[in-house]
Amino acid sequence: MNKAGLITKGVGGEYTVVCEDAEYICTALGVFRNRQITPFVGDHVIIDTKKKAITTIKPRMNILRRPPVANIDQVIVTMAAAEPAFHGGLLDRFLVIAAYENVDAVICINKFDLHTGPDFCTPYEQAGYPLVKVSATTGLGLDQLMTIMDGKLNVFAGPSGVGKSSLINILVPGATMETGDISAKLRRGKHTTRHAEILKLGTGYCVDTPGFSSLDIEGIPTPDIAGCFLEFTPFLGQCKFTNCLHDGEINCAIKEQVGKAIHPKRYESYLGLIHKDSSQKQGTRKPPPRSK
Ligand code: GDP
Ligand code: ZN
Repeated sequence: MNKAGLITKGVGGEYTVVCEDAEYICTALGVFRNRQITPFVGDHVIIDTKKKAITTIKPRMNILRRPPVANIDQVIVTMAAAEPAFHGGLLDRFLVIAAYENVDAVICINKFDLHTGPDFCTPYEQAGYPLVKVSATTGLGLDQLMTIMDGKLNVFAGPSGVGKSSLINILVPGATMETGDISAKLRRGKHTTRHAEILKLGTGYCVDTPGFSSLDIEGIPTPDIAGCFLEFTPFLGQCKFTNCLHDGEINCAIKEQVGKAIHPKRYESYLGLIHKDSSQKQGTRKPPPRSK
């Protein structure tokens, strides 16, 4: 009998497929291997319950490479209000990667119990990103975060130490992420060998390990970066030059909006990203000196 289901776990060629009535442990048919298609956690599939095999993988909305999960609805880009201090440029990198991966981003500012200094959220709210202020310690904002995550397949991303594991453990029943300072985690080294699994969260799901890192920005071609800044998108295609990088060019619709629809800090971040990236792409960077 054929049944539709969702792959929630995959270890050593065995996939857990959740169907409406029950969970099935399945293998993938040889045809996938011949065509070099690997089923992913997050795939919507058809299984043959008799053969205990996945027979069809439905078309994917997107694939995240880290962790390998298909059909992610949104990434919860998590930063801390303090400890480590809020860093706009780093947040922007994560937002660009999410956009490039075709995944909607929600900004989650954790450790708001420690927040004192100036407001850094407004530019992002004005840009159009959903933003929640939370604290895994006091519970502030967690109801709101749950509402945003409900009914969707979510993954957390963000730098180390901002509280992703703490949030996953509180929000997602059955999650067992290690929390604590980075050196202790590295010493134990556990999460390096983990397979991503998706766990039920309300009427949706959450990946039990965090996603991509800020380093993944290196793979994004320079001309694609502007399209990954949400508030730039209405103005793209309006510059004098079709290949405008919105930097030194004249009659640039993006530069025209800086200080208006585009916050100067965000534009600054954009410039930082394209300059770093283009110097690598064109190979103008000198190789590191060899040690003798
Ligand atoms: P991850 O590296 O992003 O997964 O961060 P962890 O969840 O391991 O948290 C790093 C440290 O921050 C731990 O010592 C947590 O106890 C602490 N922490 C997490 N969330 C909060 C919070 O909302 N407020 C405060 N004050 N500390 C937090
Ligand atoms: Zn331009």
